[in-house]
Amino acid sequence: MIRRRNVKIIATLGPASSSKEMIRALFDAGADVFRLNMSHLNHENLRKVHALIREVETEVERPIGILADLQGPKLRVGEIEGGAVMLEAGDKFRLDLDKTPGTKLRAPLPHPEIFAAVTAGQSLLLDDGKIRLRVIKTGPDFAETEVVVGGRLSNRKGVNVPEAVLPVKALTEKDLSDFEAALNLGVDWVALSFIQRPEDMAEARKIARGRAAVLAKIEKPQALVHLEEIIDISDAIMVARGDLGVELPLEQVPGWQKRITRAARRAGKPVVVATQMLESMISSPVPTRAEVSDVATAVFEGADAIMLSAESAAGQYPIEAVRTMNKIAESIESDPTYPGIIYAQQNEPEATGADAISAAAHTVADTLKAAAIVCWTNSGSTGLRAARERPLFPIIVLTPIIATARRLALVWGLHCVLTEDAKDLDDVAERACRIAFREGYAQPGQRIIVTAGLPLGTPGATNMLRVAYVGRKGGSAE
Ligand code: PGA
Ligand code: MN
Repeated sequence: MIRRRNVKIIATLGPASSSKEMIRALFDAGADVFRLNMSHLNHENLRKVHALIREVETEVERPIGILADLQGPKLRVGEIEGGAVMLEAGDKFRLDLDKTPGTKLRAPLPHPEIFAAVTAGQSLLLDDGKIRLRVIKTGPDFAETEVVVGGRLSNRKGVNVPEAVLPVKALTEKDLSDFEAALNLGVDWVALSFIQRPEDMAEARKIARGRAAVLAKIEKPQALVHLEEIIDISDAIMVARGDLGVELPLEQVPGWQKRITRAARRAGKPVVVATQMLESMISSPVPTRAEVSDVATAVFEGADAIMLSAESAAGQYPIEAVRTMNKIAESIESDPTYPGIIYAQQNEPEATGADAISAAAHTVADTLKAAAIVCWTNSGSTGLRAARERPLFPIIVLTPIIATARRLALVWGLHCVLTEDAKDLDDVAERACRIAFREGYAQPGQRIIVTAGLPLGTPGATNMLRVAYVGRKGGSAE
């Protein structure tokens, strides 16, 4: 199975896509990583779906990434009398800790931390921002508000407080328990929702202890203030445009998408562009032109991965949605403008061995019109630095560690192959040639560029670059 596409596709699994046949079909259609949304999964179902993905992985003989997405401190109003109530602009509306079902005058909001953090003049948004309230007065157990934009408020709708920093941790009790369950299964990535500070990611990293990589979902304005530090301490970043678009004026989201993507690329950390990419495909077999443009923008920006949420989890056309994403990505990446746009956004190498060698491999590959760049890696960091270069050559990552191969499934341009450590220097080149040939990336007579660290197997020591010829039977011809 060989994919000729740099950007990776993440498909969220859900009721529409949790059978083994469906997971296989989504993989065949182009999904590289599967996302499990812990907002909607109990531990038993997490275990089942995880096992099915691993069965498919064995079947297709390709490493597949699994991302467990923690719900985070999602805030919600309580119950409403009769299920729903209409709020009109100009109405006074009170939120408080009283559990009695809500009416047109008030509703329960079981989050005292909100009352402590918001102040008069700030906004409270209900139901994904559809209803907007302005705070008039607060106390320890209530907020008096005025309805600015009205609408129908129903049971347990979400609440956003864009302007206040809430003293809540990014990991709730539920998150901690879901985190542990996901780590015990051996998922590759754990995503944290609604993080506000770098400390939230530091805590996640401490819990994961290297057993999974941690991804920061950027969906609150507070996180934008500390973007660089959050990127530094995270293994990957997601532009979580659903909630970000509720907390920020919508017209600011595209600019932030660019800034977040660029900052992550500069740091060499994978960045995922997510949410509502092909939203209409939840109920239609074809996307809108605007959605195609949205996916195309992320591909042109050199995002590592693009993501499907409800489209693949709960929609009527999960396979078509993945296929559509795949088709758009392939088409954009073969557009004559693509190389120029990708190279224009290139970053200077940082002063590390891995960066210097990756940049050199890129230059040598360019000069020699090499068939592929092949890098040996244990921890995966050399793979990340190779991808940071965004070379428009196939990048094959060789690693003896399955966890590394699975994690890197999320990363731009990397085709990961599991293989035992090279025996010696000749084996480094010999095996690279054989695998590049076998995987269909290089033909006999073509050259490949091989990078590795000497002594072999030493982490963080990428220091070798070699040009190798693929021989007649696929091995090295030197
Ligand atoms: P969610 O996160 O789907 O878990 O809400 C993504 C987003 O908010 O965009
Ligand atoms: Mn979200």
